[in-house]
Amino acid sequence: MLTAVECPQKVALRVALGRVLAQDVLSTADVPAHDNSAMDGYAVSARDLPASGTRALQVVGSAWAGKPFTATVQPGEAVRIMTGAVVPAGCDAVVMQEQAECDGEQLRIGNGHRPGQNIRRAGEDLSKGQVALARGHRMQPADLGLLASLGISEVHVQRPLRVAFFSTGDELRSIGEPLETGQIYDSNRYTLFGMLTRLGVDIIDMGVVRDKPEAIRDAFVRAAANADCVITSGGVSVGDADYVKQVLDEVGEISFWKIAMKPGRPLAFGRIGAAGFFGLPGNPVAVMVTFYQFVQPALRHMAGETEVTLPQFTVPCLSRLKKRAGRSEFQRGILSRDAQGQWVVRKTGGQGSGVLSSMSSANCFIVLPPQGMEIEPGDPVLVEPFHALV
Ligand code: AMP
Ligand code: MG
Repeated sequence: MLTAVECPQKVALRVALGRVLAQDVLSTADVPAHDNSAMDGYAVSARDLPASGTRALQVVGSAWAGKPFTATVQPGEAVRIMTGAVVPAGCDAVVMQEQAECDGEQLRIGNGHRPGQNIRRAGEDLSKGQVALARGHRMQPADLGLLASLGISEVHVQRPLRVAFFSTGDELRSIGEPLETGQIYDSNRYTLFGMLTRLGVDIIDMGVVRDKPEAIRDAFVRAAANADCVITSGGVSVGDADYVKQVLDEVGEISFWKIAMKPGRPLAFGRIGAAGFFGLPGNPVAVMVTFYQFVQPALRHMAGETEVTLPQFTVPCLSRLKKRAGRSEFQRGILSRDAQGQWVVRKTGGQGSGVLSSMSSANCFIVLPPQGMEIEPGDPVLVEPFHALV
């Protein structure tokens, strides 16, 4: 239902970091282009490797990275070779410097070597014409290096998504304004800013919108005109001041409404014109949990990315956890290593959906299934790290 952008742009290699490839990138050459040495040592012919005892060889020259030995090496000869240097014709093994004795031009090697050893084969990294990076891949630091190794200076990437967001709530004030009793600072726009910036989207921060249907309607229309996706926080429950659902019914469409998760219920999802829409809860922790579980994968899909699943794995839990049947829970956890070096998780303190410090000290979610359960210290639990994912 949420369609991916299809708007390729040609950008310089460095600019492509974090962007999603709009085309397959084919390897323009074999990488490495030639068989080359993985070690500093001596290039020899495999026929000269002794099966037992030692063998004396004549060193006839040197091969450097970028400065090859151009003659063909004859039987009984060896060439001093440096890491990265092209393996000379006639040679098909490299003996490590530490495993040879050299006196002037006289080289002595022992047994136990094998043909092909210490040689990086032409094309072992990439062969010419092979898909080096596929369309839909988000460019990582290694990818910049990979394309640089092919001499590719520009790539086609999708344009960044534009995401507009605003907070709803009469109680919300912006930083710098004085607070009266019952008023609070708007923190959701800051966590959203952080999470969206990490995703590499272009951000349109529309500030705080008051709990008035006309104000919310106006903000929706402006947001949808300028963005691929609109995100709000607050105002999606069934309280007297919760107008998001009502207004969305008028100006757009709602796809689903209540989700059996904690924290996070309620959550609105739909469309306003061509733009996708996520109405996140107001509680600061619920905003982050629903963002990571729903908004982030959806935005990555809309940005053109093909692989959007988050890693999850099982580790022993050091804390005692208890949950009722009915909803999946995303408790905040701290993954760390114990004294034996094993990864373990413990929960952060307060798990209330307004306790943002629990998110601040956490580095993962402890994902608990809908069934009721009691976790005893040492029991395995599923964790989902949320740092360093994008
Ligand atoms: P609501 O869903 O609008 O009823 O909000 C639920 C709770 O989250 C209330 O305690 C709100 O004050 C709080 N809240 C809503 N929006 C924000 C925000 N942008 N920053 C901090 N807290 C918020
Ligand atoms: Mg509200």
